[in-house]
Amino acid sequence: MRVVTTITALKAIIRQSKSEGKSIGLVPTMGYLHEGHLALASKAGEENDLVVMSIFVNPTQFGPNEDFESYPRDLARDTKLAESVGVDIIFAPSVEEMYPEDGGITIKAGRQSEILCGASRPGHFDGVLQVVTKLFHLAEPTRAYFGQKDAQQVAIIQTLVRDYNFPLEIRTLPIVREADGLAKSSRNVYLTDSDRAVAPAINEALIVAKEEFLLKGNADAAIKLASRHIETKTSGKIDYIELLSYPDLKTVTEKTEHFLIAAAVYIGKTRLIDNILFSLKGEATC
Ligand code: AMP
Repeated sequence: MRVVTTITALKAIIRQSKSEGKSIGLVPTMGYLHEGHLALASKAGEENDLVVMSIFVNPTQFGPNEDFESYPRDLARDTKLAESVGVDIIFAPSVEEMYPEDGGITIKAGRQSEILCGASRPGHFDGVLQVVTKLFHLAEPTRAYFGQKDAQQVAIIQTLVRDYNFPLEIRTLPIVREADGLAKSSRNVYLTDSDRAVAPAINEALIVAKEEFLLKGNADAAIKLASRHIETKTSGKIDYIELLSYPDLKTVTEKTEHFLIAAAVYIGKTRLIDNILFSLKGEATC
């Protein structure tokens, strides 16, 4: 495995691999790897000749009062974990390498970014699309791997790929969870012991809401039940809980086939997100 930090070095490897006819799997991450990231990398290894994992805490997707500075970083630890699941290349550029100049061209995410995390984090998805566009151009992946943990992100990136004709396939994998249901996240390291103890309530609330909705078909009642569950089990502050159609992220109607129930909740100071995708027949995937 090689760790490269410059665009020039990455492009040389990609050029060589392409000339040998190799397929390339790209796994974009912000590092501080856990089993969710590693599942994406393993899948990329099964399906491609070369696996490139990017590790870059992208400043343009963080708001001014968010945790860009304190986001956990440990490249030595990540390198070992990535190697253990067969990553071939880690691309870990500096901010200056990715964004040498301020004030350049930006990308504006569309309607799908106006709700859920996009409403609470203005500009977040513009930053995601900016970095993902660069990574797609740099790594020229055959397939790019994303987690359903960020289902809204997947939906928006699918739209980017469709609208701007990126010649690649988006592959999505289910959420990897702790034994008690808490979705794995690099941000879980922020949780105090008492935060950690109540954090599974988010997933429980989503399950309760899904079951209520499947039983009675009333989205508002399902959301109310989920909110009550979180309010009873935690002292967390709910940012949002919504039930929408997927992937278009609109109000559900009788015609909706795929549903996303998604939540963002502050447990202590940590904002955690989670979701369940389902159809009337059961669980669904992105
Ligand atoms: P991040 O480093 O948080 O930006 O995540 C990088 C990729 O890993 C994104 O595509 C995430 O959706 C995915 N990911 C993060 N957590 C999980 C998880 N618990 N299960 C599955 N995928 C995940």
